[in-house]
Amino acid sequence: MPLLSAAVERIQPSQTVAVSSLARRLKAEGRDIVVLSQGEPDFDTPDFVKDAAIAAIRRGETKYTDVDGTPALKKAIQTKFARDNNLYYALDQVTANVGGKQTLFNALVATLDPGDEVVIPAPYWVSYPDIVAFCGATPVIVPCGIEQGFKLTPAQLDAAITDRTKWVILNSPSNPSGAAYTADELRALGEVLLGHPHVFLLTDDIYEHIVYGDFRFATMAEVEPRLFDRTLTMNGASKAYAMTGWRIGFAGGPRPIIQAMAKIQSQSTSNPCSVAQAAATAALTGPQDFLKARARAFEARRDLVVSLLNQADGLRCTTPQGAFYVFPDCSALIGRHTPDGREIRTDEDLATWFLESEGVALVHGGAFGLSPAFRVSYATSEAVLEEACRRIQRACAALV
Ligand code: PLP
Repeated sequence: MPLLSAAVERIQPSQTVAVSSLARRLKAEGRDIVVLSQGEPDFDTPDFVKDAAIAAIRRGETKYTDVDGTPALKKAIQTKFARDNNLYYALDQVTANVGGKQTLFNALVATLDPGDEVVIPAPYWVSYPDIVAFCGATPVIVPCGIEQGFKLTPAQLDAAITDRTKWVILNSPSNPSGAAYTADELRALGEVLLGHPHVFLLTDDIYEHIVYGDFRFATMAEVEPRLFDRTLTMNGASKAYAMTGWRIGFAGGPRPIIQAMAKIQSQSTSNPCSVAQAAATAALTGPQDFLKARARAFEARRDLVVSLLNQADGLRCTTPQGAFYVFPDCSALIGRHTPDGREIRTDEDLATWFLESEGVALVHGGAFGLSPAFRVSYATSEAVLEEACRRIQRACAALV
């Protein structure tokens, strides 16, 4: 009998985590490495959030709480959905979890059986297909390339749905492409879903507050209220409030799913950290104006990175509407050779070349299900970004 379960054998360790760990190791060994693989804001958690956590510790809020969130945090989540998204959930329609990753994990484990299918547009966030595979269900990957702005079209969605489809996962703004759906684009996809009443929609809105220019964030349950009862609207504190380490994610959605998610959580992690819940409550209900200022800082970095990458030989980079990633196409570099004669066959070879030749750590497109491309995270200072892009330009120019 094998030691490890079939479920664990079906999944891969997160490749984004792997690249960041390698970069950290090389740095610790003294190599000059620029890290563009990190999926977290470089800003600090706001002071008012930290103060709320310290006050919670002093009040003795250091014990078990209700499994899927304190009443205060659930109320804050309810308030957030009403304020930001015009979504009105009852308190038993929201859940708080140990990071957005657990929110997704709970939702998928609670609903998927072997044979079920989940439609996932590519490029996708690395964990979706693995969590689906862990459940024994089948990820149905729909390629959405640069020519269609990395966005799923209604025709593609319609073609991907079968009798076995349980979920469609939409992530807007997207990790890794930064592409975001307008309200009209969501409505058109919603129209397709209305024709398939057995399909549920999971919207991952974790980059909601990181959008640029006059782009207005929208989410499906808001723009197509007829899908409210079939949509799980997921979000979290990590990206908006620079709280990746605190581990708070949450969702609003249909009661049976929310209850089943709590059941799973009660048999796995129990409640999220009590102190982190107090911090997230403050984040969601406190001043929100700094979010716009931070988005503006990200926007300036986006413009810098898009411009510098488009000056690199062989790269084509679109201008994303949100998140803090760009996903340049590198098809013109495939088939070229390093100065010592090695062929660049894949985007993974290219990422290795960037690391070897110029010490730039980033994640190849294959990890996100769409090649040949790579993801650059620009959640770092403009000085570091400028240096990194110059290095990428040199590494591209050195290929023959
Ligand atoms: N969804 C997307 C698209 C993400 O990029 C991430 C984090 O990288 C998550 C969900 C999960 O975030 P967390 O578990 O930190 O809340």
